[in-house]
Amino acid sequence: MKRLRNEERITKRFSQSGVELVRFTNSGTEANTMAIAVAIAFTGRKKIIVFSNGYHGGTLYFANNLSPTNVNLPHEFVICPYNDIPGTKEIISSLPKDSLAAILVEPIQGSGGCIIGTSPFLRYLETTAHTRGALFIVDEVMTSRLYYSGLSSSLGLKPDIVTLGKWIGGGMTFGAFGGRTNIMSMFDPRSLILSHSGTFNNNIVTMAAGCAGMEIYSEQKVKELNALGETLRKGIEEILSKTNISSPPNSNSHSTTSSTSTSLQKDLESLTLSSQETPGKPKIYVTGQGSMLCIHFSGESEASLRALFWHFLLEKGIYIAQRAFVALSLPITSDHVEKFVEAVGEFVTRRKRMQGARGPNELLSLSVIPKAGEVNASIEGKEHVGNVLPLQGHQSIFTMLFSSLRVLGSATLLTSTALAAVDQQQHQQQHKNDCNAKTDPTQIRLAYANGDSGMSVSWNTNQKLNNPTVCYGCNHPHENCVSSDQSVTYATSSTWNNHVVISGLQADTKYQYRIQCDNETYSFTTARAVGNGEAFKFAMVGDMGTMGPDGLSTTVGTGAANPLKPGEKTSIDSLQAFKGGYDFVWHVGDIAYADAWLKEEKGGYIKPLNTSDKGAEYDKILNEFYVEVEEISSVVPYMVGVGNHEANCDNGADLTICLPGQTNFTGYRAHWNMPSFSSGGLENFWYSWNHGMVHFVNFNTETDFLNAPDEPGGEGAENAGPFAPSGAQLAWLKADLAAVDRKKTPWVIAAGHRPWYVSESECIECQTAFEPLLISYGVDLVLHGHKHFYERQSAIANNVTQEITNNPTAPWYIVNGAAGHYDGLDVPTTPFLPLSQFLSYYNFGIEDFKIVL
Ligand code: PMP
Repeated sequence: MKRLRNEERITKRFSQSGVELVRFTNSGTEANTMAIAVAIAFTGRKKIIVFSNGYHGGTLYFANNLSPTNVNLPHEFVICPYNDIPGTKEIISSLPKDSLAAILVEPIQGSGGCIIGTSPFLRYLETTAHTRGALFIVDEVMTSRLYYSGLSSSLGLKPDIVTLGKWIGGGMTFGAFGGRTNIMSMFDPRSLILSHSGTFNNNIVTMAAGCAGMEIYSEQKVKELNALGETLRKGIEEILSKTNISSPPNSNSHSTTSSTSTSLQKDLESLTLSSQETPGKPKIYVTGQGSMLCIHFSGESEASLRALFWHFLLEKGIYIAQRAFVALSLPITSDHVEKFVEAVGEFVTRRKRMQGARGPNELLSLSVIPKAGEVNASIEGKEHVGNVLPLQGHQSIFTMLFSSLRVLGSATLLTSTALAAVDQQQHQQQHKNDCNAKTDPTQIRLAYANGDSGMSVSWNTNQKLNNPTVCYGCNHPHENCVSSDQSVTYATSSTWNNHVVISGLQADTKYQYRIQCDNETYSFTTARAVGNGEAFKFAMVGDMGTMGPDGLSTTVGTGAANPLKPGEKTSIDSLQAFKGGYDFVWHVGDIAYADAWLKEEKGGYIKPLNTSDKGAEYDKILNEFYVEVEEISSVVPYMVGVGNHEANCDNGADLTICLPGQTNFTGYRAHWNMPSFSSGGLENFWYSWNHGMVHFVNFNTETDFLNAPDEPGGEGAENAGPFAPSGAQLAWLKADLAAVDRKKTPWVIAAGHRPWYVSESECIECQTAFEPLLISYGVDLVLHGHKHFYERQSAIANNVTQEITNNPTAPWYIVNGAAGHYDGLDVPTTPFLPLSQFLSYYNFGIEDFKIVL
């Protein structure tokens, strides 16, 4: 089979529109420039009729209100009213005899808003040009996509010259002008009448892309794409009319009735977004034909609404031109169209609701463009980006084969970043398609992952997610997306815990991120580079539970002491208030105190006493706490260690009341995602990470060592664990501490829930297990909770103190279990430990550490 060259394909395909010979350029602008030049040369005349609101290229732009920045070619243009036969006639008849070289017209004004030229008007122009000895030039740079052999042929027009561009070059930089042989022959090099030079006029890549594009965009495909466009337009129209925001009459098809541009313009201006019965408010309508359409806004808030609409669609993963122009591309399917229509519906409903709720003036203030970082200024080259990109994965066959065919019909100037951003949005959109109230993210929390090059993002939803996804980027939250299959729940949990780890990040760098099905953008900062000697702060809490009615509040139950005084700050408030002042929070066990539910009920604190609620109260308190700390945990890593209150559902110690799913640290294991994988540790039980000049180690004082208190037979009667073979935790701790490079991380800080140096009953078995390793590897600071007060010790090794200010070799011990929960604060046993340096049991609080070299 003979493979046709591009010029053969074009002349064959567009011959019915009058293209007998064709020449190639690099843009539609150039094609029109050449068409005008040849008309002037062919007729020996100078005047060119063009139409108000017309667009034929950067130097051929005839907007209704021409701005002083316009750089049109200095031809003798005469601007006539579009779709207005009498108005045009009047102007043409006033022209000097034999002065008209050409009439240049778009059969549908594309950039001008998808305004369809009426058949009588276009036929009138053709006849007039011919009777006056002028050339009839039809600009089909855009409209050639609408009919297999050009829109002119479908309208029964036979232009002298047709200009083409965009998709015909396979989306590469392309333009073409072609027409009658006797006109085009002026460029025949043998005749030496006109020359047409240009380095890339028929460059091989464009020609190859053009051949492929023409083949792909078959007659069948043209029809299918037009049908999709019609479905989209009608879908939008239907939404608008249902919400009483309908389209203007006669604007949506190549009607045979003449409607003047002035009357059309008036129609447009009189259109009001709220319902018709509330006059004076902006209104939306849609115009266009087939795969080309424009959404219009009118009224006072026109520009604001258009901007809002664009951003709204972008958030939904739909990318159209900012001026609300839409040209469908080949990979678009009816699913995308459906989503588009849905999005329009949502937009309209929201706008109407807002209008009702806030009053009309608020509409304008709503146009405040989304939060910083959501808008990538480089997303659009110029106004010529007019496409709904295929809503599909990043490296689709279309993107690879026709990087520009994907944006069929428009050579775009997207930057690669912008493309990535859009692709990732599409990626996220795939997930967004499955969004509903149950997929709304809540309890968002971060944790360091993969050293200083990662971050774990976790959140809960009320339904399982197939592929939990987070998008992120330095400048924009949609630069990259990452998914996992980690969506886990357990018996009696009302939620699913979703975990995604982002890798390949820069150390100490702020990123924006957005979770699937969320409209909010958050940010996090990765861990400081290992060895970075800059000072930093972190916040430490132990024993912090729900604040408010189900937890610590201004009243406490029987037997509990130290309620908050009215108006007092809670520890969560304080963490919140200092946010920005510390790099991360380290919560060293006893999180939420959900297991206090039964005790609270028995104490008459939570009413009614209800032991058969299927675990609902326990689940409720857990969720409450996670939501309470979300404002902190969504912006700084919230590192956790395990405490006894995570073990099961009942700190009254009757484990028979605990339902499946509420024993053995199940909730704790499901909810958090500590960096144990990258540090060789175990789940959220033991792990380590580096941050700047510190190596942090989290160990488990509850299970997995000899006589561990929460193990069967242990002092805590929690009947939990073990979670690893005997000795595994200590072997890991030894290896981890041995591997610390003190040149890079001169400080080593460890934390485990239960203390052994404390002015109260201590965890001797913990001391036996952990202290020898902490001493022999020179751990500098050891943090604990468990006791509900604050106590700072000296540096201590084997019960012998060392002066903290004299460069001690022993670890320094601090207990802070005073963050607060339902039971209030404890009073330490007197006499206080002789090693004790400072003790406070009157205040709830957090510990704020500053680390300097
Ligand atoms: N004519 C029409 C009708 C167009 O829509 C355009 C581009 N939007 C052009 C000409 C100019 O084409 P190019 O951007 O390739 O110069």
